[in-house]
Amino acid sequence: PVLAGVEKVVHLPGEPPEDVTDFRIVKSTRGETTGLSAGIPMDTALCEDCAAEIFDPENRRYLYPFTNCTTCGARFTVTRRLPYDRANTAMAPFEMCEECRREYEDPMDRRFHAQTISCPNCGPTFTLYDRMGNRISEGGWGPLKEFANLVDAGNIGVMKTWGGMQIVSLFEKVWDLREWYRRREKPFAVMARDLYSIEAIADLKDEDRAMLVHPGRPIVLVRKKRLKPPWDEVMDGISPGLDTIGVFLPYTALHYILFYFMESDFLIVTSANRRGEPMVTDNEEIFSLNADYYLLHDRDIVNRADDSLLKTFGDNVFFIRKSRGFVPEAIRIGGRLSVMAMGAEENLTITISRDGWAYHSQYIGNAESYGVMEFGRDASRTLRRYLGVERPEVIAVDMHPKYRTRRIGERLAEKFGASLVEIQHHHAHAASLIIDSVSPRVWDHRFAFITADGTGYGPDGTAWGGEILLAGLSGYKWIGGLEQVPLIGGEKAIRYPERVAFAMLDRRGIDHPLIDDMQAEMLRRAAAGAPLSSGLGRFLDAISAYYTICVERTYNGEPAMKVEPYLVKGSLVYRFEVETVGDPPRFSTSGLLAQAVHLDPTTFSERADIIYSMVHALIDAMVERAREQIIEANLDRRIGFTGGVAYSIPIVKMFVDLAEERRLKPILHNSVPAG
Ligand SMILES: [Zn+2]
Ligand SMILES: [Zn+2]
Repeated sequence: PVLAGVEKVVHLPGEPPEDVTDFRIVKSTRGETTGLSAGIPMDTALCEDCAAEIFDPENRRYLYPFTNCTTCGARFTVTRRLPYDRANTAMAPFEMCEECRREYEDPMDRRFHAQTISCPNCGPTFTLYDRMGNRISEGGWGPLKEFANLVDAGNIGVMKTWGGMQIVSLFEKVWDLREWYRRREKPFAVMARDLYSIEAIADLKDEDRAMLVHPGRPIVLVRKKRLKPPWDEVMDGISPGLDTIGVFLPYTALHYILFYFMESDFLIVTSANRRGEPMVTDNEEIFSLNADYYLLHDRDIVNRADDSLLKTFGDNVFFIRKSRGFVPEAIRIGGRLSVMAMGAEENLTITISRDGWAYHSQYIGNAESYGVMEFGRDASRTLRRYLGVERPEVIAVDMHPKYRTRRIGERLAEKFGASLVEIQHHHAHAASLIIDSVSPRVWDHRFAFITADGTGYGPDGTAWGGEILLAGLSGYKWIGGLEQVPLIGGEKAIRYPERVAFAMLDRRGIDHPLIDDMQAEMLRRAAAGAPLSSGLGRFLDAISAYYTICVERTYNGEPAMKVEPYLVKGSLVYRFEVETVGDPPRFSTSGLLAQAVHLDPTTFSERADIIYSMVHALIDAMVERAREQIIEANLDRRIGFTGGVAYSIPIVKMFVDLAEERRLKPILHNSVPAG
C-alpha cells in the first residue's frame, strides 16, 4: 500500500518451518499497540483508484460520498480506540453488506481489511436540510446534487465532513459570507476543483504543488496572483490586505462529488464554529448557525480535526495549524518517562510521550473558552487511550502562573501522582526546534536561538517576547532581546496597536500624529502601571498602526501579517542605528521608530523600504549578538529561529541571509509548529 512504511526489520535465527502454505492477517488483540506510529492512522485524501470508481457509472460506488479503501479515507477522526478495527470506529453501527464483506475478506482486493469499508447499500447516508431543519432530500447522491446547485446559486451552506463541519459559499459571494458570519477581515480558505484552477489565482512554487497534493491535503498559504476586475476585489475579499491566500484541494469523496455537480471551480470553505469556540461536530447544534442549507450525514465525528494550514519555505514546511491529515504524528524525542505537556495559552496542542516518542494532539485552539478547554480534555483523553498511557509520570506546564492549562496540569499531576515540571515558554520553543531540526547525535549540545514570540512568562516575572537564547534541551541562558515597551491598557494595546506606537514614540519625546494632547495625557498616565512587552510582533503591530496599514486587530496576528506585503516588496535603503540598553543588551525598537518618523514616505514602495530597513536592522542586531556569544561560548555555528514571528516568510528570509553572511547555519522548523 502507498502509505505503508517499514518501521523496523527484525532478524530471528532459525530455519523457516517447512509446512508454511498461506499468509493471513489475523484479528488484533484488544488494547495491544504494536509499532505505535503505525498504530495510529491519519486521515488520508481519497486515492486515485477510489476517485476513478466514484465517477464510473458502472461501479457500485458511483457518486458514493463515503468511498475509501485501505490506502485512503477517514482514520483518526473516526477512531475511538486502538487497535484500528471497525468495531472501534464510528463505522461500528453500519453492518457490512455481503458484497462489502467479500471485498473485505479477499486478499486480492484493494479493500482487503479496509476497516471503514462501506457502499451505498450498507454505509452512512447524507440528508439535506433547510435552515428550519426540514428534510429536503435524503439518501444516495440526490442531496449532494441539490446542495451543490443551491451553493452554486449563491446560498450559504454547511456540510459535515470527516472531522468537522464546514461552511461553504461561492467564491464571488465572499462579502455576503463575511457579513453573515460576522468575520470582517479574517482570511478564508478556498477549495479549488483541481490544481489547474489554483494556478489561475495563485503563483505556486514546486514545493507548494507538492504539499497541495500531499495525502494530508492541507491548506497551503501561497502568493496571490494579480487578477483583472472584478476578480481582484474578490481576491482581496478572501484575505483582505494580505498578499497570500490559503488554497486546498478536495480530499473526501464528498468534496469531489460536489465539484462534479457544481459550475464554479472555487468554494470558500471555512470551519463552522462560533467565535472563540471549537468547530461544531453535532448534528443538532449546527442549526443554531442559521445557514441557508445543511448537508449532514449520520456517522459520528469521533475526533474533531480542523483542516491543517501550512506554508512552504524552500524544503521546509511551516505548520501553522497541524491537524487533519497530519496527526497524531510520532516524533522521536528519546527518554523513557511518559510525559504529558499541557501547552501554553494560544494555539494549544497537547503532547504525550511514550517509550521515547512524542505524539501531539490535533490543533485545539486558544484557551479562551470553556468549549476549547473541553476539546483539549477530550483530545488528551483520546491520546492517552491510544497510547495506553493512563497515568503520565510527568506533567509539563508553562511557567506562567495564570494560564488555565497550568491549573489543569496541576490538578492532573495531583490526580496521577505525577511530578509537575515548569517550562519557560521561550525555552520550550527552542527545545522543540532542536527536536524538530537538529540531529539526535548533538541533542546534548547548546545552540543559539532567536525566539520571537508574542508573550511568554519570563523567569523575572516580566513578559518575554523577542529574546535571544543559548539553549539546549535541559537548560538555557538569556543573552539579550528587544526593548520592553509598555502595553497601555494590556489587551487593549494588542487590539489597538496605535497604543504601542504611541508608547514607543512618547518614550522618545515625539508626538504621535493621530493622537491629540488630551488623549496623550490619558495614555501617558495609563502607561505608568502597564505591563511591558518585548515582542517583535508588537513592534510589527506598532509599524502597522503608525503607517495606518492596520489600526485594529480583529484576528490573531492581523496587524503584523498585514505588514508582510511591505516586507516582501521593500529593500534595504536606509541604514538605521540600533541602540542598546543594559547588559545583556536589549535592542531599542522605539529608537528605530523614532528614526523612521522623520522620513515622510508618500508611496507604497517608499513605505515598504522604510519598514524593511527597520526590521532588517533589528534582525541584523539580534543575529550579530548571537554570533558573538556563539564564538565566546565556543558553540556549534548554528542558529535557530522560532516563535510566532518565524512564520513570516520575508523575515525568515532576512534571518537566513543574515545568518549565512556570518557563516552561521540557520535552523528552521519543519514538523513542529513554530508558534
Ligand atoms: Zn482509496
Ligand atoms: Zn456494502
